[in-house]
Amino acid sequence: MRCPLCTILGVSALAAIPVVLIAAAPVQNAPATNEAAKEWKVHDRDRPQPAMVSAGNHGGAPSDAIVLFDGKDMSKWTGNDNQVKWAVKDGIVQITPGSGDIKTKDGFGSCQLHIEWMVPETCHCEDQHGCNSGVFFMDQYELQVLGCNPNKTYVDGMAGAMYGQHPPLVNACRPNGQWNTYDVIFHAPKFGKDGAVTKIGTMTVMFNGILVQDNSDIWGSTAHGAKAHYTAHADKMPIHLQDHGDALCFRNIWIRPLAD
Ligand code: MG
Repeated sequence: MRCPLCTILGVSALAAIPVVLIAAAPVQNAPATNEAAKEWKVHDRDRPQPAMVSAGNHGGAPSDAIVLFDGKDMSKWTGNDNQVKWAVKDGIVQITPGSGDIKTKDGFGSCQLHIEWMVPETCHCEDQHGCNSGVFFMDQYELQVLGCNPNKTYVDGMAGAMYGQHPPLVNACRPNGQWNTYDVIFHAPKFGKDGAVTKIGTMTVMFNGILVQDNSDIWGSTAHGAKAHYTAHADKMPIHLQDHGDALCFRNIWIRPLAD
């Protein structure tokens, strides 16, 4: 059997099918702008160039990042009584135990977040006590911060865990007194008009450069001792750091909002 186009090309219709399928396939590797709707030709020179971004040195903020804490300035954060009562000194912000959680003044949805944290050597870690904090995305979804070298606890509550949901793939925690880094790709959940989840959220986490959450599903808002479930919320909400009563330290916090 020969189709008119096949006759021109000199191929059979059967042989032409893969060509047609490939040509009709959606573009898989969308550019950084997520402009996936348009179907580009392979090696299309009209395809938009990604934005130029200068990388930071040694975990420093890339040129297009929003710096949330540069070692001196906590003006992008707020807390109880509209104040940040944590102590800023020597390029570090340290939890003042009992002063309350802090959160960014601005809201964020999907994002890339870099944050460094350290458990002082003076802290004594025992299970969930003595060296506990957390990074909450959208005020809801906790990536646990906990001294875990050494310190044994339930695995879905250790450092690098999505609290109460997914343990880290490995324990990459450094000993107390040493700085740890989290580099997180967070994709926000989506909700329909009826409040039901239409797309679940996900987290990918590099802990000191080691993969510990691999595009893990978020089951819902973080809960303690209970199964998580989703409650509809705004598209953008604060990043929130936990005061669990322990004097952990943070530095070098930056974020890059991502297109969904
Ligand atoms: Mg915590």
